[in-house]
Amino acid sequence: MEYKVAVIGGGVLGTSIAYFLAGEARNPASIALIEQESDIARHTSSRNTGKVHAPFLYDPVKKKLFAKAASLGFEMWQAFARAKGLPFKQDGVLEVATDDRGIDRLQKYMAWGEANGLAKSELQLLDKRQVAEIEPAVRCESAILCTRDGSVDYGAFSQALLQDIRSFGGTVLLGHRAGRIALDGTIATAQGRRIKAQFIINAAGGMAVDVAHAMGVAKEYTDLHFRGEYWQAPEQYRDLTKLSIYSVPRHPEYPFLDPHWIVRADGRREVGPNAVPVFGPYAYGHGRNLADMIPKILESSRTGVRRVFLDRQFISLASTELKSSLSKTAMINRVREFLPAIRPSAFTIRGTAGIRSSVIDSHGRFVPDTLILEHGSSINVINYNSPGATGALPIAAKVSAQILEKGLIESGGKRTLWNPVDIATRL
Ligand SMILES: Cc1cc2nc3c(=O)[nH]c(=O)nc-3n(C[C@H](O)[C@H](O)[C@H](O)COP(=O)(O)OP(=O)(O)OC[C@H]3O[C@@H](n4cnc5c(N)ncnc54)[C@H](O)[C@@H]3O)c2cc1C
Repeated sequence: MEYKVAVIGGGVLGTSIAYFLAGEARNPASIALIEQESDIARHTSSRNTGKVHAPFLYDPVKKKLFAKAASLGFEMWQAFARAKGLPFKQDGVLEVATDDRGIDRLQKYMAWGEANGLAKSELQLLDKRQVAEIEPAVRCESAILCTRDGSVDYGAFSQALLQDIRSFGGTVLLGHRAGRIALDGTIATAQGRRIKAQFIINAAGGMAVDVAHAMGVAKEYTDLHFRGEYWQAPEQYRDLTKLSIYSVPRHPEYPFLDPHWIVRADGRREVGPNAVPVFGPYAYGHGRNLADMIPKILESSRTGVRRVFLDRQFISLASTELKSSLSKTAMINRVREFLPAIRPSAFTIRGTAGIRSSVIDSHGRFVPDTLILEHGSSINVINYNSPGATGALPIAAKVSAQILEKGLIESGGKRTLWNPVDIATRL
């Protein structure tokens, strides 16, 4: 098994990268997508809120790449959905402030939205009375109404990308977990196979830091994992709001965003996600979490993570998250602050939890933006968190353009909806 480029990780990012590379290559079979599970997008890419986020929430300096990718991602996913006949609902979002601090933050978001390219007509600052006119069930002091925000199913988008990769003639290796990676690009899989690649792209999501470490890259970084849990709202709350309602995060420097009121692409309503610290990227249940505990604790004692655990603010926020994992009432009450009509007892079914993996530097600081680290014959995308699904096509175009510029693959296939180099120049 010898390939020009091997992409490790079949989430929305890896499938997007393989889509561009197999679409551009004259010999698409020389591009391999390697996924450990028996199907793609089994993890975060199918376990999220399903929003195509507008870029007003992202600091144009600290989160420059995420902000630009989100801005481009909207039009790209919209065009992709149209081409594939998949749902893309431009249904808008209301970002609410329940106190004065929140109002200051909304003003900052208005400035960020403009700096990140949102039109004035797409972003409106509303007072309490105006909010009551459009969403009478919502209680807040002020809010931003953003109309350029959408709801989709990223699992379905990833499957559509996979179909294209296959129809272009790209190679898809499911059920192959990349383990040891030799300097000459030989990947040993947990299943006992050897895959040789001239260039490796690491898009392994929650395992991306580990895969990077296996190639001797990003040794100064480690990660912490946070499980985002949801509760499905009963039918009686379907007409409570038209819009998804997000509240202004109180501590945006940490990965603890307050749970939202979510309108899904298929019309379901949900509350979530919280962000409960767990020991691994697949710790959806207690068993797996316990199994990951000892290795993670040992790793933490050697890295910047130990400083995070000395941070009192982090510990206090983490305990609130833990409480809202153990108690449904605690979780629902966080949303009741701005949607008082909902009652915890009416919620009986949990939604599908997803896990985000935040990268920590050697000083114990959370890294704000995604990192694209090129080293030798590899590109590693780490800290690929929200709005990672929104930005997957543009970031994939950027990574693919880096590969094309090297002349490693003969290009000219032109089978995709966009030329990745053109997209990369807009990022
Ligand atoms: C609760 C939650 C809500 C979110 N909501 C949104 C949202 O509304 N909008 C948005 O834009 N973003 C959202 N995000 C973020 C978004 O979902 C992620 O940024 C995105 O899905 C990451 O995609 P990925 O392909 O990098 O990772 P993943 O989907 O995790 O894919 C990585 C893949 O790599 C595979 N893999 C790992 N290791 C190996 C290995 N060694 N060998 C082979 N395969 C391997 C895994 O099996 C997996 O399939 C949310 C995230 C969470 C957790």
